Amino acid sequence: MRTQWSRLLRVCCLFLIPSLVFPAQAEPDSSKLDRRATPAVFQISTLDALSLGLYQGVYAIAALKQQGDFGLGTFEGIDGEMTILNGHFYHFRSDGVVTEEADSSRVPFAVITTFRSEIRFWTDGVSMDQLGQQIDQHIPSTNLFYAIRIRGKFLELTTRAIPKLFPPYPPLSEAIEQQVKFPFQNIEGTLVAFRGPAWVKGINQVGYHYHFISDDETAGGHALSFTTGPVIVEIEQLQQNSIWVPDKGPFLTAPLPVTQ
Ligand code: ZN
Repeated sequence: MRTQWSRLLRVCCLFLIPSLVFPAQAEPDSSKLDRRATPAVFQISTLDALSLGLYQGVYAIAALKQQGDFGLGTFEGIDGEMTILNGHFYHFRSDGVVTEEADSSRVPFAVITTFRSEIRFWTDGVSMDQLGQQIDQHIPSTNLFYAIRIRGKFLELTTRAIPKLFPPYPPLSEAIEQQVKFPFQNIEGTLVAFRGPAWVKGINQVGYHYHFISDDETAGGHALSFTTGPVIVEIEQLQQNSIWVPDKGPFLTAPLPVTQ
């Protein structure tokens, strides 16, 4: 009996893993559902795959544009940092230059949603850790995904970008050793962020992941630290998570998940 149940469980898991869909609320807010589909986050590959050095581009920007207008990720060869805001796909390279990425470019890892502001508050003069604590006080549960948009002035903000690498790719821990840091002061712009629940470990970032783009579109990157000036924080709760994974190439034989 136990064997049958475990086999059934394995079969169910096989169907569920490619697209983790959270069940609808017992009593959904019908007004909310009338306005829009279930808020969803879509991601390309997994964080564990990226950590192993799977930096091959596997999903085209043109296709990613169909999945939302707000997100983050990286590029083929882990060539800099991607910030997606208002449907613009910004590419911040390790030489400090921002460009908009071509539709034909393919990415190894990305997280994207269609952003809708649901919860908002103002704050001022807080560090990355303090901002995370404040957001935690505005969300109903740490077991859900959230997209977060933080707009305004930053007194200090340090980002990083990794120079483009070529095969054979090193693991992410070694690639990060080559990162170039960019300290900015008194810069205006937007942090595009996601908060992932602890149970998503290995698939996506647990906790907060912040990418930046300046208002003048000349600065960006993966945020390592910051102190805000006056900023507005807007939060969207995400109830559905779809994970697209490659069906060919090194993903098929990668030793996943990564055990630590
Ligand atoms: Zn990042």
